[in-house]
Amino acid sequence: KVLVGNKVSEGHVNYVIAYNMLTGIRVSVSRCSGIMKPLTDLDFKISKKLVFDISGNELTPSSKYDFKFKDYCPTVFRELRTLFGLDPADYLISLTSKYILSELTSPGKSGSFFYFSRDYRFIIKTIHRSEHVKLRRILKDYHSHVKNNPNTLISQFYGLHRVKMPIYYGKRHKIYFIIMNNLFPPHRDIHLTYDLKGSTLGRFSLPKPTHTVLKDLNWMHDNQSIKFGPKINEIFVNQLQKDVELLIKLNIMDYSFLIGFHDLSKGNDEIKQKKLSIFSPISSNLHDLEKTNPKLLNRLNDLPNIDYPEDGNVFYSNEGGINSSNVNDEASNHIYYLGIIDCLTDYSLRKKLETFWRSLNNDREIISAVPPKEYGDRFLNFILNSINENKLKEAGFKDNNFS
Ligand code: ATP
Ligand code: CA
Ligand code: CA
Repeated sequence: KVLVGNKVSEGHVNYVIAYNMLTGIRVSVSRCSGIMKPLTDLDFKISKKLVFDISGNELTPSSKYDFKFKDYCPTVFRELRTLFGLDPADYLISLTSKYILSELTSPGKSGSFFYFSRDYRFIIKTIHRSEHVKLRRILKDYHSHVKNNPNTLISQFYGLHRVKMPIYYGKRHKIYFIIMNNLFPPHRDIHLTYDLKGSTLGRFSLPKPTHTVLKDLNWMHDNQSIKFGPKINEIFVNQLQKDVELLIKLNIMDYSFLIGFHDLSKGNDEIKQKKLSIFSPISSNLHDLEKTNPKLLNRLNDLPNIDYPEDGNVFYSNEGGINSSNVNDEASNHIYYLGIIDCLTDYSLRKKLETFWRSLNNDREIISAVPPKEYGDRFLNFILNSINENKLKEAGFKDNNFS
C-alpha cells in the first residue's frame, strides 16, 4: 500500500487532472532551460502562465484537454533542483505524461491527494491554497537554507504549480500542487514506517498485517530508536536542530519526522512479490519463476533503476537512505529512510482556535496544535530522546493517552 498505489489511467476519476498536471510540468520545465543566472528578488515573485487547448497555439502544443497552467518561481525551483542534485533530463522523463501516475488514496486527513511518478522517485501532492501561499512566502528563506545546508532533512521541493480547469466531476477547478522527493525507495522493502510529531494525543495506529504508518504512541510502545554512531549522530543532531530552528522562525507547525526502516536481514521479498504480480499474475510464486523463467526474474530485479545523486545529502547517500551505525561508526543492520514532511502549515488563526478549544479538555503538552516554538521544541526533544536508546518516558513523554 505504501509503495504501489492505484494506477491513474484513462477513465479514472482523476485521470484528466493527472494528465494536465504532467503536461503542464513537461512543457513549463522544458521551457525553463536557459543559462542559470544569479537569482534576483524578481525571481521569487514571478509566475508563468500557460494556456493549453485542444487545437494548440504558438505558445503551447495541443493538448487532450483545455486547461490553464501556472508555474510559480520557475527559476528558483530550477536552482533548487540543481542544489538537490537532480538531472534535468531525468526529472522530465520521470514526470512525462506518457507514463501516467499512481495515486495513493489520501493517506492524511487533510484531503490532499498523492501521486507517484512512474519510477516512484517523485511525489506530487495537491495542497491547500494556504499552503501554496505559505510556500511562496517562505521560498527565499527555504532556498537559502537549502543552499547553506546540504544535509537538510526538510522536504525537497522541486516545483510549485497550479492547474485551472473547468469544473470536473464536481471538483474544485483550481488545483495547487507541489513536487517533492519520495523518501522511500522503489527498490527496497520498507519493513516499518513511523510518522512522528512529538505529540502523543491520538497518535496511535492499530498495527495491521498490511503495511501501515505507525505513530508516536506506537514508537514509544515499541521502544524504538534510531541507531547512529558518534560521527553521523553529530551531523544528525546538528542538522535537525537547524531545520527545526528554521521551521519555528517561519511560523510553521504540524510537520512530522517520517522514518522507514529497511531491515537488511529481511531483504526485499515484498517488492519481488509485488513486481511479480504486476508482470506475471498467473504464476505468483517466486521460486517457480526462478526455475521456469529466469529471464523474467532478471527483469524484475532490474526494475526500477534510479540514479540517486552521489555527492549530495549524507542522509540519502546510500541509494536514498542511510545505514544505521554502531558505536564504532560501522554500518549495522538497518537502512533508514528519513526526513521532515508536511511542513507548509502556518500557525494561523485556525490552529490558534484549535489550540484554544482542545486545551479546554486536554493537557497542553500532549496536543498537536500548539504554537510553533512549543511545537518545534517538543518535536526536537522527542527525536533527540530517541537516538540510540528510547529515553522518552524519562524525558516526560506520556504514553497512556489513547483516544
Ligand atoms: P495531515 O495534514 O492530515 O497530516 P497530509 O494530507 O498533509 O495529512 P502528509 O502528512 O504530508 O499528508 O502525508 C501523509 C502520509 O503520506 C505520511 O504519513 C507518509 O506516510 C506519506 N508521505 C508524505 N510525504 C511523503 C514523502 N515525501 N515520502 C514518502 N512518503 C510520504
Ligand atoms: Ca501530516
Ligand atoms: Ca498537512
